[in-house]
Amino acid sequence: MTPTFRDDEAMIIDQIARFAEKTLAPQAARIDEEGQFATIHLDALAEMGILGMNLPEEYGGVGLSGPALYRAVELIAGACGSTASMLTAHFLATDSLLLGGDEALKKRYLPAAAERRMLGAFALTEPEAGSNPADMRSHAVAEDGGYRLKGSKCFISNAGAADFLVVYAKTDRSAGARGVSAFVVEPKTTEGIEIGPNEKTMGLRGGHVFSLSLDCHVPAENLLGAEGTGFRTAMKVLDNGRIEVAAQATGIAEAALEAAVAYAKERKVGGHAIADFQGLQWMLADMATDLAAARALAYQAAEKRGTGQRYSRESAFAKLYASEAAWRIADRALQIHGGYGYTCDFPLERYLRDLRIFRIYEGSSEIQRTIIARDLLS
Ligand SMILES: Cc1cc2nc3c(=O)[nH]c(=O)nc-3n(C[C@H](O)[C@H](O)[C@H](O)COP(=O)(O)OP(=O)(O)OC[C@H]3O[C@@H](n4cnc5c(N)ncnc54)[C@H](O)[C@@H]3O)c2cc1C
Repeated sequence: MTPTFRDDEAMIIDQIARFAEKTLAPQAARIDEEGQFATIHLDALAEMGILGMNLPEEYGGVGLSGPALYRAVELIAGACGSTASMLTAHFLATDSLLLGGDEALKKRYLPAAAERRMLGAFALTEPEAGSNPADMRSHAVAEDGGYRLKGSKCFISNAGAADFLVVYAKTDRSAGARGVSAFVVEPKTTEGIEIGPNEKTMGLRGGHVFSLSLDCHVPAENLLGAEGTGFRTAMKVLDNGRIEVAAQATGIAEAALEAAVAYAKERKVGGHAIADFQGLQWMLADMATDLAAARALAYQAAEKRGTGQRYSRESAFAKLYASEAAWRIADRALQIHGGYGYTCDFPLERYLRDLRIFRIYEGSSEIQRTIIARDLLS
């Protein structure tokens, strides 16, 4: 299932496809090898409007529909997984403002985030609260003109280069998830924020992640929405984010499948192109089927994005299936490349390393299954 895009969306997608091929893809292996932060692409992403692809035009964004945004993220991820990871972490921050912030806060941050290269980060996870963020210990207490925000966060993508962080913390520690609020914090100009070094990771090595330690003042106007609405906002943001994780997964899987088809036609064994072997043809057929199924589920969720309806179940289907299917597809693509696939001369081993995190972040596969089961049983 490939949706029909509006003419303006088709044009943007075409531009992004060319940008991904000409600018992102040629640098992807080096970014991975050197662990260079994908922020090197920020200027180009801002210039093309990509940093605001997820936002409506009234806030300086491009206003892409859910399916068009999905395709755009796929193209970027297929060219450079690290860049897509940095970009989608920025979207988690701007989506927090879009879905939870009042008008003044949206006008202050979103156009700057979309057009002026103001990078965002989404700070939810803590050392003692990953899969169950309601257990978070970070908290905010009212003080003169705002709040004193205290706590620590870990694995926060982009934080080391971010101009603004959306930090989730409890304003009522006795109220569980209902006690969580969200705040916008500017780490470059706020005292009392310590950001650790980039964590060394298995894949997405150009998508840097940091720990944070916070003991800082936050002005009252930087509270997103009302006190106690933060958890609900975070869950809505993750419904969007999980579709973007699915897009990253299928984008990389598409690149792996294309590489496998090309290699199978070219590589000769015993005088035959390996594509002539039925065992490999069936492998390719299974890969293409898996990819089509993953996309169909993801487009189903993407269609609902922005309609005002909740789509937690569709979004969980999309992330769960795409992240697991993409792993199978890239693994088979590496198998088709034989020993060469295992070397760093081909991108297959990087694809597999980059894909592994999609079964963990923004809610692991186990958590997606829990969301789906809870919905079935409710
Ligand atoms: C590269 C990277 C980037 C990240 N970026 C961000 C970011 O930008 N912002 C942010 O806030 N966070 C980010 N994270 C954090 C990420 O979302 C968490 O790592 C993830 O949610 C899992 O939490 P955890 O690591 O604490 O694992 P845990 O919660 O400790 O889980 C450990 C294992 O137990 C399983 N498990 C836990 N609960 C259940 C359950 N109820 N039922 C069954 N199984 C269960 C999990 O599935 C997992 O297999 C990032 C992480 C990484 C590695």
